Amino acid sequence: MSILLLGGSSEATQLAKALGPQAVLSLAGVTKKPVATPHRTGGFGGVEGLLQYLSAENIVAIIDATHPFAAQMSRHAAAAAAQTGLPLLRLERPSWPPTASWRMAPDLASAAAALPAGARAFLTVGSRSLTPFLARTDFWCLTRAIEPPRQCPPGQLLIQRPPFTLEGEIALLKTHKISHLVSKNAGGAATSAKLEAARLLGVEVIMVQRPPLPAAPTVDSIAGAVTWVAQIKGKT
Ligand code: NAP
Repeated sequence: MSILLLGGSSEATQLAKALGPQAVLSLAGVTKKPVATPHRTGGFGGVEGLLQYLSAENIVAIIDATHPFAAQMSRHAAAAAAQTGLPLLRLERPSWPPTASWRMAPDLASAAAALPAGARAFLTVGSRSLTPFLARTDFWCLTRAIEPPRQCPPGQLLIQRPPFTLEGEIALLKTHKISHLVSKNAGGAATSAKLEAARLLGVEVIMVQRPPLPAAPTVDSIAGAVTWVAQIKGKT
């Protein structure tokens, strides 16, 4: 009887360590060298595949600790929990609080459209979210990603893994004469220095808002998730 822990975030890695063998950590398999060692890797095959997995592995609860922008997996987990009656918890780090100067974009396409011609953009949306930016050739991009993208907008590619420091982010923005920063509202301390660097240097921030997700009990800390697991185990 195990708990399925859907990973893909640093919090999932920490929670996997905290829970030990009672949790089965599952990763999508998009990162070649993940920080955590998963127990299984790769998609389940949609909601149907997930339902089969839950039954075959005798799963008693699901923790969705995917990245806040991994909406499809979160929606599949919510659907599977609703169909099976299994308890579902979402572990989600808080969003960065918006500031008045940010330009909010509801999705990546709107963020790409918001960049003015001639902009020098620092693009930090991840290697698999670049498609809307590829259609534009009228701005220069410093694209930063953990995994090399298949295709990049015109400009320069930087392969780097967080955490990033304020000093490093300021130097990067200055060196590349960045006019706009494009970011998803991922939240968390590991990648937030770019926002402070942009504020200090007067760089315009285009912030992609989180996708809507089905309602689910949610905690924002490892300790909260560990407590929830103890409660679930007490009931099974
Ligand atoms: P997604 O759109 O929500 O999911 C796409 C498909 O990938 C899912 O339908 C599922 O395939 C599979 N999948 C996703 N997470 C999985 C997991 N933990 N275990 C097993 N299968 C999983 O996700 P995404 O945006 O492509 O992100 C892929 C992974 O990278 C996620 O684990 C996410 O947490 C991580 N990540 C995403 C972002 C981002 O900005 N989107 C940033 C950092 C990390 P099936 O339908 O076949 O089950």
